[in-house]
Amino acid sequence: MTMQPGRLFVISAPSGAGKTTLVRRVIEARGDLKFSISFTTREPRVGERDGADYFFVSQQAFDRMRDDGAFLEHAQVFGKCYGTGRQQVHDLCAAGHDVLLEIDWQGARQVMTNDPDCLSIFILPPSMQELERRLRGRQTDSETVIARRLAEATGDMGHWREFDHVVVNDDLDRATADLLAILAGQSTTTGTDDPGTAARVTRLLAGSA
Ligand code: 5GP
Repeated sequence: MTMQPGRLFVISAPSGAGKTTLVRRVIEARGDLKFSISFTTREPRVGERDGADYFFVSQQAFDRMRDDGAFLEHAQVFGKCYGTGRQQVHDLCAAGHDVLLEIDWQGARQVMTNDPDCLSIFILPPSMQELERRLRGRQTDSETVIARRLAEATGDMGHWREFDHVVVNDDLDRATADLLAILAGQSTTTGTDDPGTAARVTRLLAGSA
């Protein structure tokens, strides 16, 4: 029997959309799905572990990997470098696993261009007000960092149409179910070309949701 290579799923979201919790839930629900651990030059946050949350590397090491073509995609986010290991993803897919990339829209765009068969999903917060509340709720960040993240998040959200599906994270259980349905190829209501979905997202971005 020949092994079917796994599929690539790309998930992006602005900071504060609640993507990390959603992704954790989806990984728990689908044991066969593998999360790709990215490389980054940013400092680990409290509680983060090297090799589990990220591979934390120096700028020099990151630059060397980039020059060697070791990244499937890479981008700068909040002034730090992030990249997806090409070999890691290749090995997981070759072993028949579906692989989930949790990356920013710039990296997602690179993956979508190079692998048109990948399935891409954009996660949105329930409202602009809730986005701000969530960004403020992170006690670890300073006011300057919050203001910058809010501005960046607003800009990032403008890219939602480039993705195949969009999920509004207003209720964690429902958003998890939506995401699982998308991954299973069974969602008919989350497509970015769905008029109802598009209207809802437009309202949200205008601050009227
Ligand atoms: P954080 O530093 O808060 O963990 O992540 C900041 C942003 O970087 C998030 O939008 C996250 O999705 C993105 N990110 C994490 N890993 C990668 C990666 O490998 N490539 C790209 N392009 N973005 C990433």
